[in-house]
Amino acid sequence: MQNPRVLVPTSPAATPPPRPRWQLRCAAAGVVVLAMLLVRCVSAPKTTPNSIEACGRPFDIGTRVVGWREPPGYDAYQRQKRFTAEEKPDGQLRYAPVRGGLDQALAARAADGGMSLGDLQQAVHTFVLHYDVAGTSRQCFKILQDVRNLSVHFLLDVDGTLYQTLDLREKAFHATYANDFSIGVEIAHPGAFAQPLSADMRRWYDKDERGWFLRYPAWMAETGIRTPGFVPRPDRPDFVSGEVQGRMYHQFDFTPEQYRALAHLCAGLNKLLPRIRLEVPRDAAGRVVSAALPEERLRAFDGIVGHFHVQKNKQDPGPAMQWDRLLQEARRLRAGMGK
Ligand SMILES: [Zn+2]
Repeated sequence: MQNPRVLVPTSPAATPPPRPRWQLRCAAAGVVVLAMLLVRCVSAPKTTPNSIEACGRPFDIGTRVVGWREPPGYDAYQRQKRFTAEEKPDGQLRYAPVRGGLDQALAARAADGGMSLGDLQQAVHTFVLHYDVAGTSRQCFKILQDVRNLSVHFLLDVDGTLYQTLDLREKAFHATYANDFSIGVEIAHPGAFAQPLSADMRRWYDKDERGWFLRYPAWMAETGIRTPGFVPRPDRPDFVSGEVQGRMYHQFDFTPEQYRALAHLCAGLNKLLPRIRLEVPRDAAGRVVSAALPEERLRAFDGIVGHFHVQKNKQDPGPAMQWDRLLQEARRLRAGMGK
């Protein structure tokens, strides 16, 4: 072992000589780089309880979002069933890491290391609304993940909690050809029915002194709803009837909590991915179109659509969806978010 004293300077001759100018310049450059890194760290967006995630970056949308990494979130990246005792990976991918239909340069970048936010802003121009016919987000994820090997970016539960299951850069499997250029949300809801207050519809709804409410069937032992004791009540007191794909359907409305959260999500998506305009397909008279659009027209549309706008065999989100109320609220929230 060396004597530590030999390292201690003992005379003025031992002080280091002045540094050459290039060394000073390097040191100064180092300080600048360090300062830039610090500024970057400080100004990088933070994950909050209200963040959605796109290309690895969080964006606060002003309403509660449970991410796929946050227990008890719903993780569509996992290659196994979620609600089974057997947790062996089945190897099944329930989404595609690269969206189709991209131009050559974009496709090459996407295949190389995933899409950048700029790439995603070019590629995604549609937000597809579904109802899940499952009644709760927990039940919906169970069916998507464990039974059908499908996926969707967001689940919106009856109490207004949003769950994100995948980064928005992934192509989720929810709306056939529109998967390539869309984001999707499954809104927890029993669905629309061909007959009003039929036995099928009454299986889900009951009435008390405050009006109709959603009553879960006995077989659904666990609802997974985050808000303790939450009783889902439709936004409007009576069921709503209306045409979808040229046929009459009857449906209780979504909950006010769902409208509120969905408006935040629409506004946030418009800010993040501006091609998703706060508009819905309309006819010449300005009414919301209630049937599937020709594929070319849907591909050319930038904005929010229902699943029934994509596919002729779909009715969701049904005649009860209050499109204008949703858009008005989303535009108001968007105006408060700035550029
Ligand atoms: Zn659907």
